[in-house]
Amino acid sequence: MSDPIIMDGKARSKSIIEEVTAATRRLRDETGVQPGLAVVIVGSDPASQVYVGSKAKRAEECGFKSVKHELTEDTSEDELLKVVDALNRDDTIHGILVQLPLPKQIDDAKVIQAIDADKDVDGFHLVNVGRIATGAADEAFVPCTPAGCMVMIRDVLGDDLSGLNAVIVGRSNIVGKPMAQLLLAANATVTIAHSRTRDLASVCAKADILVAAVGRPEMITGDFVKDGAVVVDVGINRVEAADKGANADGSPKTRLVGDVAYDEAAAKARAITPVPGGVGPMTIGMLMANTLRSAYRAAGREAPK
Ligand code: NDP
Repeated sequence: MSDPIIMDGKARSKSIIEEVTAATRRLRDETGVQPGLAVVIVGSDPASQVYVGSKAKRAEECGFKSVKHELTEDTSEDELLKVVDALNRDDTIHGILVQLPLPKQIDDAKVIQAIDADKDVDGFHLVNVGRIATGAADEAFVPCTPAGCMVMIRDVLGDDLSGLNAVIVGRSNIVGKPMAQLLLAANATVTIAHSRTRDLASVCAKADILVAAVGRPEMITGDFVKDGAVVVDVGINRVEAADKGANADGSPKTRLVGDVAYDEAAAKARAITPVPGGVGPMTIGMLMANTLRSAYRAAGREAPK
């Protein structure tokens, strides 16, 4: 096989952010409306703090109003619901994002359903899930990670995936299932595989488009990959990196790997996403695009494509 296309999520996300920034400027100039994104975090989980920080920073770069609500670990469900309610009523906020997971005293599902579906830029509200499932994705907020995967797949294969077999490994509500709906809407023939799938390698080896969203380091090896497949690796796994030595405290250094054994898969693929620098950066880009769309809608304008 010739060298695969490396689907560079960092560069692609940068171009999306530039488009969003330009469209934000136009919206402000023409209507006075500034897109507003509110991120809500409960507790001090370090990974969640990093995610929320980078979302807020990116929103500012796009020219959005960016609001961050940091609540303590012992916040009650009622208190959080009051914050969400206030944001629902706030006309300067067009996107609300509650960082998951929430502490155990709070029901994640209840909080997500309390967000106004028209401000649910994460695309987790049942109204948005239903719109996507019934083929009305144009009216929905599409969850950001699968939306980003679709952008990269379309960059390589175009808009119409008729006749192509797509296999998604993973059936979570935030990645696997919406990914399947989007591929189906683009006319691919879709299989969703999961932990109970028999002979996963041979199921995957039929895929023209293979999306791995499992959370198991490098489990998709070369024999899972069809020659010429487009391989999208959603997985983000931190593993020990014996070759990098140890930290000052003696703990081993680590590195990030995907669900796909990159070198083996790249040797067969037509196109592949790296980890890091593939799907990850696209997720934030799509969050900004969703928030922009919400602000355009609120201003009575059609959002740029
Ligand atoms: P979940 O844990 O919710 O789902 C994992 C899925 O993988 C499940 O459907 C599970 O099957 C399936 N699975 C687990 N083990 C196997 C196996 N041995 N063979 C086949 N299928 C298996 O994960 P998420 O969907 O939330 O995330 C998946 C990965 O993507 C993680 O690494 C996560 O960090 C990453 N991620 C990356 C994002 C990004 O921005 N790049 C955003 C979101 C997630 P079953 O349902 O049967 O248990």
